[in-house]
Amino acid sequence: MNQLSDRINSLSTSATLAMAAKARELREEGKDIIGLSLGEPDFNTPDFIKDAAKQAVDDNYNSYTPVDGYAELKDAIITKFKRDNQLEYNRQQIVVSTGAKQSLYNIASVMLNDGDEVILPCPYWVSYSDIVKLNGGVPVEVKTSIEDDFKMTPSQLEAAITPKTKMIWYSSPCNPSGSVYSKTELRALADVLQKHPNIYVVSDEIYEHINFIGGHCSMAQFDDMFERTITVNGVSKAFAMTGWRIGYIGAPKTIARACNKIQGQVTSGANCIAQRAVITALEASPEKVQYMVDEFKVRRKLILGLLSEIEGFSCNEPEGAFYVFPDISSYFGKTLNGITINNASEFAMYLLEHANVATVTGDAFGNPNCIRISYAASQDQIKEAVKRITEALD
Ligand code: PMP
Ligand code: GLU
Repeated sequence: MNQLSDRINSLSTSATLAMAAKARELREEGKDIIGLSLGEPDFNTPDFIKDAAKQAVDDNYNSYTPVDGYAELKDAIITKFKRDNQLEYNRQQIVVSTGAKQSLYNIASVMLNDGDEVILPCPYWVSYSDIVKLNGGVPVEVKTSIEDDFKMTPSQLEAAITPKTKMIWYSSPCNPSGSVYSKTELRALADVLQKHPNIYVVSDEIYEHINFIGGHCSMAQFDDMFERTITVNGVSKAFAMTGWRIGYIGAPKTIARACNKIQGQVTSGANCIAQRAVITALEASPEKVQYMVDEFKVRRKLILGLLSEIEGFSCNEPEGAFYVFPDISSYFGKTLNGITINNASEFAMYLLEHANVATVTGDAFGNPNCIRISYAASQDQIKEAVKRITEALD
């Protein structure tokens, strides 16, 4: 009996979540696993945000919320977009969702027809490709190189465009490479799009504040791109609020209203207490959470220094987010502890089993030569993890 749909059978399991689950399982069996697989800050949600949530409970925020978010939250998002990104949205253009993941899913479901192509510069965040496929779209991967800091060049973009191209999805700062597109680089991509007025851009800016070089640029800041860019953001990363599940978009009105419509049929509005807390988070100055960014910066230096001492690891210098994405392909074909490593998945599995360190294979991000290591872990854990990796590869 075929219980499941072809659609679900063709969907991959999220590799980041799968690896985190595997690490959890091994820990329950008593193994001392260091988890560097999941992209989630190891900080607690700041107290001023927790206090706002407690207040919301006491103030009896317990009913269904407006599908696209409380008006006060939409206003806080509008102010945030203006303050941090110089973008002018109105309430009709904002939709609050259950995490940026749902925001991305909404976009794909309201914009894609079967066979529409979505350009994904590789490496891309793990769920982009499957969200696109689940909604009938066709992911078109654009391979980038470590020499180009894993960024798509204008000529690569031009070459990937076909009459079926509907959208481009990218994240900056990028998960998994940490690359940050400069204003000049984004302008050069926008210039290519001038010849293709029907192509939309999904700009995933969830790591906006975790940027070590400054100068965050949003594609929608260019006047000629504003009407065809959907800006995605959320509070999971900058505010250490992964479990609160709040993401949001600023988008052209027709797209935002369509997202509101689908959300109304699928989940209704996002959690009421979390929304109230996020009002407080977004109204605060980003300076209030800078201490986490400062710590990530110290850890970045630490992990890059330690990894540079391992033979066969080749890294770009990430400018944001909290990942390193080393090319480990020099190990392919080698035998370690009697195990032959043929690809990045086998390499990540080898590290899990022989170093007790959980990472994620680059295949999941569209780059089969790399693995992703999250450094959202304490400095001691990072040191111990790299020590174990070094020993397991020796
Ligand atoms: N985009 C990127 C690039 C991410 O790394 C994540 C990680 N969770 C998301 C979107 C989704 O974030 P969330 O659903 O937690 O808001
Ligand atoms: N975005 C995080 C990551 O890439 C969280 C896991 C997920 O949502 O897939 O690890």
